[in-house]
Amino acid sequence: MTSTAQEQGTGGRQAPVLEVEGLEVRYGRGRRGRSALRGVSLSVAPGETVGVIGETGSGKSTLARAVLGLVRASAGSIRVGGEDVTGFGDRRWRALRRRGVVQYVFQDPLRSLDPDLTVADSLTEPLLVRGVPRAEADERARAFLDRVHLSADLLGRLPGELSGGQRQRVAVARALVTEPALVILDEPVSALDSANRVQVLEILKELRASGTSLVFISHDLGSIAGTADRVAVLHRGELVEVGAARDVIGRPRHAYTRLLVGSAPTLHTRTASRSERDALRARLSD
Ligand code: ADP
Ligand code: MG
Repeated sequence: MTSTAQEQGTGGRQAPVLEVEGLEVRYGRGRRGRSALRGVSLSVAPGETVGVIGETGSGKSTLARAVLGLVRASAGSIRVGGEDVTGFGDRRWRALRRRGVVQYVFQDPLRSLDPDLTVADSLTEPLLVRGVPRAEADERARAFLDRVHLSADLLGRLPGELSGGQRQRVAVARALVTEPALVILDEPVSALDSANRVQVLEILKELRASGTSLVFISHDLGSIAGTADRVAVLHRGELVEVGAARDVIGRPRHAYTRLLVGSAPTLHTRTASRSERDALRARLSD
């Protein structure tokens, strides 16, 4: 899968936005060091949403951190937008992040948002840094707030003056405002109550139409089920199954995936959450 993708090169129309090949990440050194990821290969096509599922400790956040340059690969390679970033040091990672190719949303929006910046500043700052004129940045901030279904009334608020759900939607808007090729979302709905979870999942689904690629990480298969095109299953640092979402969830091949599908409480209540989503969609289209 990844080798074919690589052969297409950066000039290919469907050249992957992310290519992870044989990735290993070790924490700690020497004999006491442990590998959190082993032999992980995954590619993400433009506009594709890939769900990464696995229980706590399976290495999901380590994968996110490696792709964001926050931990180093001990083996294997990572290509972002066709560029091999595996050997990048801090300076080149900072430059890459400044270009806004990859953005992120973490479980706790207070980690993705500066607590001292108003919503308006959080949204315009990444644009101003890239030289977007102030008036255009202000306009884009309003447009992206609207895309996450928040009112422009919130522009003057600090993160601490927002509800958890509003805050996470601002974090999503901030990740998107630079129109990145790839957004890594690590447990973006896990800290939200069910009403907010439904709203944010709905927004993530709408984003699929925008052409941005998403890596949507969750320990909860139910959250990923309705959003991901493909699903990758991590088990103890290894990818045990990757496939179309409907196949992985509908006909899991690996025993561990079957266990996940069988024990996902939200999958059993999908009819309820779907009707909640329909109700929400009706409300949003008012
Ligand atoms: P997940 O996000 O799936 O819960 P993590 O990627 O956070 O999993 O962790 C994977 C494994 O790596 C776990 O065994 C965890 O204890 C270990 N780990 C994570 N971060 C560190 C770290 N900074 N130092 C040492 N071990 C870590
Ligand atoms: Mg994690």
